[in-house]
Amino acid sequence: MPHPVLDSPAPVLPTRPKPSGARRLTLAALGVCVVTLLAALATVLAQVNAASAATASALSAEAGHIPEGTVVTLADDHVAAIARLDPALLAAMRQAQADATAEGVPSFQVTSGWRSEAYQRWLLEDAVERYGDEAIAGQFVATPDKSQHVTGEAVDIVPLDAQLWLMEHGARYGICQTYANERWHFALATQPGGVCPAMKPDATS
Ligand SMILES: [Zn+2]
Repeated sequence: MPHPVLDSPAPVLPTRPKPSGARRLTLAALGVCVVTLLAALATVLAQVNAASAATASALSAEAGHIPEGTVVTLADDHVAAIARLDPALLAAMRQAQADATAEGVPSFQVTSGWRSEAYQRWLLEDAVERYGDEAIAGQFVATPDKSQHVTGEAVDIVPLDAQLWLMEHGARYGICQTYANERWHFALATQPGGVCPAMKPDATS
């Protein structure tokens, strides 16, 4: 008769090898990498946040931004883009608008009037990004120190019928198209009833 097994051997558990020095170093290095990555991510997020905050303030109504699709007229005194125009330009444009309307020309709409320096700088940076070239961008968007929009001395008008009317009759009020490549951009450039000076090719000249 076989003896009952009274004392079976305890199962042998595999022992976990203690981390070697090299392994500890690897773990520490990984930890450093993760911390560095998280810090980099935080920096990028902070920059994105700062950039979008800057964009938001550059494109605010207080900065003179008129969102696309918003109809603004020369009568909109509560809009910074209109209120901060040079009073002489605004008065001349309003007179021109009244006479144009009497002749059946559609109402003038302002797509851009006074702009803050920050808004002008944003426009320039946006144009540089779009054209991929500072010189080309400069032909369409003036630098903040040169822009007549920043000083309130220029206004952009649509629709085309209003532009054509101003090109033909603007000089009566001293209003001229000043850049050949911007048929919407008008400024005071002669005496009322005078002759408009030759247009500059673009905003760089
Ligand atoms: Zn303009």
